[in-house]
Amino acid sequence: MSEQTEQTKPGVVIVGAGMAGVQTAVALREQGWTGPVTLLGAEPHQPYDRPPLSKAVLLGKAEDSAFDVDFEGLGITLRLGTEVTGLRAADHEVDTEAGPVPYEVLVLATGATPLTLPGAGGVPGVHLLRTLDDAARLRPVLAAAPAAVVVGAGWIGAEFATAAREAGCAVTVVEAADQVLAGALPAEVAAPMARWYEAAGATLITGARVAGVEEGRVLLADGRELPAGAVVVGIGARPATDWLDGSGVERGPDGSVTADAHLRTSLPGVYAVGDCSSFPSARYGTRLLVHHWDNALQGPRAVAANIVAGDAVQAYDPVPYFWSEQFGRFVQYAGHHGGADTLLWRGAPDGDGWSVCWLREGVLVAVLAVGRPRDLAQGRRLIEAGTPVDPAKVADPAVPLKSAAA
Ligand code: FAD
Repeated sequence: MSEQTEQTKPGVVIVGAGMAGVQTAVALREQGWTGPVTLLGAEPHQPYDRPPLSKAVLLGKAEDSAFDVDFEGLGITLRLGTEVTGLRAADHEVDTEAGPVPYEVLVLATGATPLTLPGAGGVPGVHLLRTLDDAARLRPVLAAAPAAVVVGAGWIGAEFATAAREAGCAVTVVEAADQVLAGALPAEVAAPMARWYEAAGATLITGARVAGVEEGRVLLADGRELPAGAVVVGIGARPATDWLDGSGVERGPDGSVTADAHLRTSLPGVYAVGDCSSFPSARYGTRLLVHHWDNALQGPRAVAANIVAGDAVQAYDPVPYFWSEQFGRFVQYAGHHGGADTLLWRGAPDGDGWSVCWLREGVLVAVLAVGRPRDLAQGRRLIEAGTPVDPAKVADPAVPLKSAAA
């Protein structure tokens, strides 16, 4: 093998040019990596941010959401429209249609793919909402204000329903579980959030399974038929890791690359970050698969630090954070809670602003804030610090959370 100089070495190759991939490239430069950085992205578009897709971009209030990053100025080689189809670790190469791409260090940042509704694929008028192309297809649909059926009352479903109501559509949201945000929040916390749908003029049907989708209508298992000029499916997403089949990269049952505490995969020199990967959280004593923006911002900083140092110098153990904008409310969540944690309300959930806190052994582990950003910011700091808190103070909305220490 010929001797490699700094210039001829392949450097860091990042697969996936979404938030996590772009942030990894930027963080590498910020942290002093001088070797080549190549970003391979399947989509043809300039890399862009996803949260605006279900908000301003969908409603035509913003044209697009491209990241404001000077790739050329940073010396980052951007190869768009380049889908990576395989990884051959023995050769230190990934495969693309245009041929193999060698790497010295590889970062997997391929994000997630939305789940589809069985039988709905190819039916005219059925949409997903994950990409800029999805949003571009949905914009004229919304502008025509058809009767819209949303399948799934999760974060994306609620945000799409919000935009569709704003566009003047009649909206019905169908959810298989008995509550909204099942899997994310307990029923008692989700209950007041379900009332937001009706207040916004949307119809929410929980405990209802979709039996079929045909052009212009959605059939429910109980025999009901919903007219649907447009159907949006928002039933979750799965890590986009099928392309790693046969590569030797270990994955979990949820499809995520099971990274270690330093975001390294089971293969040497291969890291994984963002929606495609899970990591062990020492803070919460469990493996976390986080499908939120902040994780795709913070994780890359740890990956870059470890690559630049050439060693496992920075563990990744964040307090996860996300926000959602639905039905005129700003919803924020920080931390991670389990069913066994103690739940405390801060304020009545029928008012404009309220929060919920979760305590484990006297320490705050998670906070949900609706229209109370100060609770979120102060709660997040308490969670990070692991400070024991006084439950009575936590439950009193008149006491600032930062003053709730025991
Ligand atoms: P992605 O953004 O999915 O990027 C991965 C990229 O990799 C994609 O461009 C994909 O095309 C590419 N790729 C995949 N496979 C390959 C391959 N084999 N070869 C090459 N390229 C490949 N989070 C919040 O906290 N708050 C919000 O309000 C919020 N709103 C959202 C609204 C929408 C509509 C969506 C879809 C997500 C939202 N999120 C929100 C979640 C957040 O956007 C994601 O967590 C974040 O985008 C994850 O970044 P990522 O880079 O890991 O994955």
